[in-house]
Amino acid sequence: MHEIKALIRDIPDFPKNGIIFKDITPVLQDPKAFKKVIDLFRERYVNQNIQKIAAIESRGFIFGAPLAYALNIGFVVLRKPGKLPYRTFREEYELEYGTDAIEIHQDAFEHGERVVLIDDLLATGGTALAAANLLQKAGAELVELAFLIELSFLNGRAKLTDHNVFSFVSF
Ligand code: AMP
Repeated sequence: MHEIKALIRDIPDFPKNGIIFKDITPVLQDPKAFKKVIDLFRERYVNQNIQKIAAIESRGFIFGAPLAYALNIGFVVLRKPGKLPYRTFREEYELEYGTDAIEIHQDAFEHGERVVLIDDLLATGGTALAAANLLQKAGAELVELAFLIELSFLNGRAKLTDHNVFSFVSF
């Protein structure tokens, strides 16, 4: 994990002044590191009777889809408004930099399916809380929210006290 943490690059003032953006592209470009992240997530969930992985557009897809493949289970996408073609549920939320909304297909889950939600990074927790609400609306049993990176100084976990939260790397 130390090697992976060392590959996460700080980009100051992106996408706006005062934000230190955690750039994961060096992790993705390194085949050992990228594989390690997926393998570690897999090890955590392989014996937990998880039925689907859900992930948040867009960087959540980078980790969520290979994890679902590695676990041999289904993959559900949470997308920005207007992208999903079928009937959707929707949740509004606040970002560290702006506001947004996410949507899910209403038929994404069978009722009570055990689901892990994946995103690249937990900041203020607004996105993750909206995603958790959306999964519950869609009938999932949310087993855990999992992130590669947690910005612990932003205390996103305080918004997520109703849920299990896991991250590999903390800043
Ligand atoms: P939040 O809702 O504040 O927890 O923000 C989480 C979402 O915004 C995640 O999907 C991240 O990809 C993105 N994000 C927020 N802050 C940062 C940051 N400092 N560096 C990289 N991505 C970020």
